[in-house]
Amino acid sequence: MKKVLLLVGLLFVQGLALAATTFELGRDYYYEKNYERAKYYFIKETKKNPSNYQAYYFLGLSYKNLKDNSNAVVALKKVLELAPAYDLTYRYAQSELRNIENPEQAKKEYAQDRAAKKEENLKDNYYDYMLLGQKCYTWESFPITVYVEPYEHSAWVRRSFLNWEKASKNFVTFEFVDDPTLARIVVATTKKGIPSANGGQLLGVAKWRYMPNGHLHSAKITVLKRRPEDNSKYSKEHFVSVLQHEIGHSLGLGHSSSCDDIMGTHCSYNEIEERAISERDIKTLKILYGAAN
Ligand SMILES: [Zn+2]
Repeated sequence: MKKVLLLVGLLFVQGLALAATTFELGRDYYYEKNYERAKYYFIKETKKNPSNYQAYYFLGLSYKNLKDNSNAVVALKKVLELAPAYDLTYRYAQSELRNIENPEQAKKEYAQDRAAKKEENLKDNYYDYMLLGQKCYTWESFPITVYVEPYEHSAWVRRSFLNWEKASKNFVTFEFVDDPTLARIVVATTKKGIPSANGGQLLGVAKWRYMPNGHLHSAKITVLKRRPEDNSKYSKEHFVSVLQHEIGHSLGLGHSSSCDDIMGTHCSYNEIEERAISERDIKTLKILYGAAN
């Protein structure tokens, strides 16, 4: 089953936006699975920008795909030298290194992680699980104003926000506005792929800004509207599910351990199409906002 990745791409997307054209060329070749060309551009990029750890990361992945493990290890170790430990690229590089250097141990850890997830799925919330990967923030008050950039299915976008209101019994509320400067959440759609830090493609991304008091100030959600592999449109169910996931992030939620929850990650297309905002999603949201019973 094809697994796709949904995650908060805050750090890397900002990092990638600053990267040079050489890096983007390498990344394009990487996504086309032309690892020889990708390698060429990532080497060029690391010579030009020796501190670009994302280039080293993709260089490592390119070597790995070319079955050149010794050079992959050198490039990935460079990531650990250059990247800050809180950056997901650092963690991905660490796990790639484990996979290459000690596949048996990596397999064992993966099995342990799966068992832990199963255990987590039995709980009525995923608050603790969610905090493993990140710090979570909240809004100071509701309703939150929302602006939707012109999109042929803007009704699907509205539906996604209304679903959160309904599922939470109006614990969270939104107000749609026509002026983006009045909005705290802006929703955009894109035809272009959204690259992720681990060499995959993101279906959507939510970026936040915070206020000095630690509350959320604003959020920008971007959702992919066509499949990167064949440019066909996503189904309404898929689009709404992905957008609801990103709205969850924009409310301050992190990831759940289960693909039955809207905040699940690493879920298949079918799982994404079939899931809805769950009781666990709402319970976790209420714990986050200090409103659980
Ligand atoms: Zn996510």
